[in-house]
Amino acid sequence: MLKKEYVDKLTEILDENRISLDVPMAEWTSFKTGGNAECMVFPKSEDEITEIIKLLKENKVPYYIFGNGTNTLVRDGGLKGVVIGLYQHFNRIDIDEETGVVKVKAGALLSAVANLSCRAGLSGIEFAGGIPGCIGGAVKMNAGAYDGEMKDIVQRVKVMHEDLSIDEYNTDEMGFEYRKSNIKDGDIVLEVTIKLGKKDPNKIRARMVELSKKRKEKQPLNMPSAGSVFKRPKGNFAGKLIQEAGLQGYTVGGAQVSKKHAGFVVNTGKATAADVEQILKDIKDKVYEKHSVELEKEIIIIGDDE
Ligand SMILES: Cc1cc2nc3c(=O)[nH]c(=O)nc-3n(C[C@H](O)[C@H](O)[C@H](O)COP(=O)(O)OP(=O)(O)OC[C@H]3O[C@@H](n4cnc5c(N)ncnc54)[C@H](O)[C@@H]3O)c2cc1C
Repeated sequence: MLKKEYVDKLTEILDENRISLDVPMAEWTSFKTGGNAECMVFPKSEDEITEIIKLLKENKVPYYIFGNGTNTLVRDGGLKGVVIGLYQHFNRIDIDEETGVVKVKAGALLSAVANLSCRAGLSGIEFAGGIPGCIGGAVKMNAGAYDGEMKDIVQRVKVMHEDLSIDEYNTDEMGFEYRKSNIKDGDIVLEVTIKLGKKDPNKIRARMVELSKKRKEKQPLNMPSAGSVFKRPKGNFAGKLIQEAGLQGYTVGGAQVSKKHAGFVVNTGKATAADVEQILKDIKDKVYEKHSVELEKEIIIIGDDE
């Protein structure tokens, strides 16, 4: 349990109803498994984020940044320290319909940005409408789908570094590569400016509906998961290699290689985080045995073993 003195200090920064103790991370991650976090806080401004991190650093309390928890597995022993959840209150979206410039706080959902942009007749972010995460994590990972990537639309990114200094970067300074950027562990994306083009909202909506239909057809969206668990190896597809290794439907405890899309690991109901980690290891080993290809994890795994 987080020491009472830190909780008291946190209540000097944000109201009590934005501080939760002993929080089951299964409720805050799309995998729907994992242990409890000692504390979770929900800041609503850059000042609050700065003050919280200053306090935690000064007292050597570990902390984790969370968007919507759709690319994260929390181990069964849970998380010591504080989870800083951005999705709930740090999520403002400002759209300039004339210029196509959209300023977004890090916790805004990609689907919200895509839907509002569509209504404003702004095109370019349709590819991200079905990615269930927030824009901060999406920029860090250079999230992408259907031939689009964050790097195609990002204009500027405001980042807080570990020493609490704040910098703004243009796209060409972001080091965007496949599922990668220059954002270091410990850096926090605060705000993202994207630039979109004008288009008939009906055409934008039609494209979003088409992509959503494709997702529903191909992906096990009715089961808890964190999307594709491995990055795409050069010139190949992780799902294809996993399928060819005969692993579709392979199960460890409650974790299963999806029968619908072999790139996904799903929670069939009672998966522990240990089940998920074991299945990832087995997949990696078996794909290497069959194809001599080393798969690299896409999801982030944090916390303590039980
Ligand atoms: C059904 C399903 C489908 C998916 N489809 C896709 C897809 O098509 N393409 C794709 O790329 N991904 C996909 N994903 C994965 C996931 O949605 C993306 O990676 C998304 O960008 C993660 O956002 P998040 O807010 O949920 O991140 P989280 O899981 O909350 O965090 C992920 C990582 O980013 C860090 N982070 C979060 N916010 C910030 C911030 N503001 N500053 C710095 N670091 C931060 C966290 O510390 C963590 O290390 C899918 C997931 C699911 C469940």
